[in-house]
Amino acid sequence: MPEIEDSNTAALNVFSLAGKLALITGGGSGIGFYIAQSMVQAGAKVVITGRREGVLQEAVATLGPNVHYFTNDVTQLSTIPTLIESIEAKHGPIDILVNNAGINMKKHAIEVTDEDFDRVIQTNLHAVFAVTREVGKRMIVRKKGSIIMITSMAALYGIDRVVAYTASKSAVGGMVKALATEFSPYNVRINAVAPGFIETPMMLTAMNGDPSRRDKAMDRTPMGTWGKPDDIGWAAVFLASPAAKFITGVSLPVDGGNSIGF
Ligand code: NDP
Repeated sequence: MPEIEDSNTAALNVFSLAGKLALITGGGSGIGFYIAQSMVQAGAKVVITGRREGVLQEAVATLGPNVHYFTNDVTQLSTIPTLIESIEAKHGPIDILVNNAGINMKKHAIEVTDEDFDRVIQTNLHAVFAVTREVGKRMIVRKKGSIIMITSMAALYGIDRVVAYTASKSAVGGMVKALATEFSPYNVRINAVAPGFIETPMMLTAMNGDPSRRDKAMDRTPMGTWGKPDDIGWAAVFLASPAAKFITGVSLPVDGGNSIGF
């Protein structure tokens, strides 16, 4: 009989990200900040990106010495190869990529301009693909890696007044499945976390001034509460960890039951 590892040690090991480098786009604030925090607590070294240097500096000061930042706008697609090259030159190979940076835009569909639509698609879809392609090709050569997309319940069912956002997040959900078929033979896994209503500046801004919308959100959440950003952080740790080593191509709702159609 093989010797059975002490159960606590086994559990700690299987969820550990010790020795891994994680890149989290939009990691300076909101959900991204808490993903960074959870990954550091799981033992990873983390690089966060975003457009606002002051926000990134503050996050690094709060999260401690295992977190570093690079200022970058993901919609500047031509800068992405240099960004990834610079991160790996300074910190080593990226083991985990979390595509978290995203924007929302709440408008009636008929008021959405081409510029509005393009801006959301550029940030939430095209940039996600461009970062994934750049990091993914390096992971494929190294034959290891885990990529996590942060999509939304909007990728799972229709929500009014967020047409471009819904289109972008649904497309990323599809991209996860397509890429999983291509990346799996190289031991690179790709999954999504689909958050429900999570208390962050983005969500609170979207709900502000519209209490009926807030009530509606809670009415359709069986658990009856808002999620906390670290609920997404720990789901991302799970998907990145050896505990999820046979999981690829899935979108994991983390939403208090919202997506079951309450
Ligand atoms: P926030 O607005 O709080 O944070 C968004 C982050 O993305 C910021 O750190 C921002 O940094 C960064 N970002 C935005 N645009 C760019 C860009 N062009 N280049 C680089 N970084 C950028 O949003 P949340 O934390 O709420 O959202 C995080 C993710 O979770 C998003 O993908 C969102 O769609 C998703 N989500 C959130 C839900 C919620 O309930 N909050 C629900 C479902 C999904 P900076 O401005 O400095 O660039």
